[in-house]
Amino acid sequence: MMFAPLSEVFCSVQGEGPYVGHRQAFVRFTGCNLKCDYCDTPVGIQEHCRFEAVPGSGIFSNVVNPVSNAAINEMIDSFNGLHSISLTGGEPLLHAEFIAALNADKPLYLESNMTLPHMAKKVKDCLSYVSGDVKLLPNHLLEDPESHLDRTIECFRILKTKKDRDCFCKIVVTKDTQADDIEAVVNTISGYISCLILQPVTQKEMQPYSGYLLDLQNLFLNEVDTRIIPQTHRMWGCL
Ligand code: SF4
Repeated sequence: MMFAPLSEVFCSVQGEGPYVGHRQAFVRFTGCNLKCDYCDTPVGIQEHCRFEAVPGSGIFSNVVNPVSNAAINEMIDSFNGLHSISLTGGEPLLHAEFIAALNADKPLYLESNMTLPHMAKKVKDCLSYVSGDVKLLPNHLLEDPESHLDRTIECFRILKTKKDRDCFCKIVVTKDTQADDIEAVVNTISGYISCLILQPVTQKEMQPYSGYLLDLQNLFLNEVDTRIIPQTHRMWGCL
């Protein structure tokens, strides 16, 4: 049996990207190797993982951390009608061995910051969906921006779209995001992804001008299917 530290397990709908509205179980891992300006997720290790047994009820029970793969599968199996299981965080790839051994009976949907290629190799054969972020300066604290970019591109190469896996790229756009920075990545990974999602940052004070988002979409449309999709779960207050 294997164990991992989690912050929460619940059932809701995907709020971001091309699978928005699909019903998922969310398994949120703790711990992250990055520090983003707009991060809204508690990433520190907690004593308990909270479990919402009845979707949307807001009633949680506590499960002691770390949680076993058997216990996670039991929680997931209690939910009906799942499209897939979202592995989110924090950074779930920090727990790649655990994910590879999860053995869940629903497709796995990884939400990753795409900076840990050596861990991506360990899960590449068990994922059906990959929602890969590209973290750009200046809204992320990157120790080594150049190697960061190389590692991101390598992660997309390892987890690229193929017959039994959909990999797409999501970039959170703030008023400080530069088109040149996006272009440098998109030109390299466009062959690995099914679409590019430009996600305007949710925090109002950091949001880009709407015309700028449309200009960005126009810039990349000929290279890859490019869509502008904000975080939708924030609009109706769900997890
Ligand atoms: S990668 Fe995600 S979880 Fe980690 S700091 Fe950035 S936004 Fe937060």
